[in-house]
Amino acid sequence: MLLTINHLYKSFNREKVQAVYDTSLQLEAGKTYAFLGESGSGKTTLARLIAGLERPDRGEIYLNERLISSESYHLPAEKRAIGFVFQHYALFPHLTIAKNIEYGISARPDKRKVVEDMLSLISLEGYGKRYPHEISGGQQQRIALARALAPKPRLILLDEPFSNLDSNLRQELRTEVFTILQKTGVGAIFITHNSEDAMAISDEIAVFKDGRLVQKATPEELYEHPVSPYVAGFFDTLIEMPPSLLSSFGYQVNQHKLYLIRNHDFHFNGFKEFSTDATVISSSRVGRNYLIDVKVGEHVLQVSSEEKPDQSEISISWRERDLLVFPKPDQPV
Ligand code: ADP
Ligand code: MG
Repeated sequence: MLLTINHLYKSFNREKVQAVYDTSLQLEAGKTYAFLGESGSGKTTLARLIAGLERPDRGEIYLNERLISSESYHLPAEKRAIGFVFQHYALFPHLTIAKNIEYGISARPDKRKVVEDMLSLISLEGYGKRYPHEISGGQQQRIALARALAPKPRLILLDEPFSNLDSNLRQELRTEVFTILQKTGVGAIFITHNSEDAMAISDEIAVFKDGRLVQKATPEELYEHPVSPYVAGFFDTLIEMPPSLLSSFGYQVNQHKLYLIRNHDFHFNGFKEFSTDATVISSSRVGRNYLIDVKVGEHVLQVSSEEKPDQSEISISWRERDLLVFPKPDQPV
């Protein structure tokens, strides 16, 4: 196992904030993972604990079966062979790109060769003499990655590496970074609040909420079998289906369950399983799809669909396999 985390805890402000709470996790070598969670869910704190920039209150972390963190033991960050790329790429502005890349390996005799190899890995050969302000944001992020990879880490942590970039550049850089990491074979953890990033680049996704790990699974498993509305909500807009609404579709409701349907899993006219009459109130085009407000009894549902119905009185339906069923939470969410 590349990384093993056992019942890890970390709090701040005299235990008022439980940033990481009873987290256990095992990560295999050679795989790419994503830590996905809303802001404040403890992703960065967990990454800092793994990197050795924080010490845990309780619990242990092992790298390649060797203890690196516990309540009483702390292997210093620089001895862990774990690379870290931060949210803000934070290159040294007064150093050339070559000097930035060799920052962590400046004592090594072969550092010039390593810098050349790194520049070639990130397809920026010949850029060594330039300064950070002379290159684009995407290129700066690739340099930050090269700097973290230069000491040949066993694991690399990337904390929201794309969050400063706009959508097109983000996708492009995401693919580039993924390809670079695949070439090196280094284990990687991408930290993100963006489910699309997580799905695009990782073999497995660990989802966090309030410092707790809520689910760890492949992107397919997470999408098909989310353990909670929180997890499902990362991937789609969900519509809650209260009992009275489900009954109007002819569905037998269990009062102890919470029911949700993804907003694109409704069908208009001519589809069977669970269906009822509905009235189209309004529609608007949002990119590829329409968002359509549909009235069913006293409920209004905002459904996403590739097509817009051409009459206002329609039938609307869904399939049982698209109904997401969870235990009802004790408190309203
Ligand atoms: P994320 O990266 O998922 O946004 P963080 O790990 O940054 O989450 O934060 C988790 C919780 O811990 C938040 O409530 C945050 O305010 C708190 N926190 C993080 N670092 C500190 C710190 N150094 N001092 C006090 N509270 C902190
Ligand atoms: Mg963070």
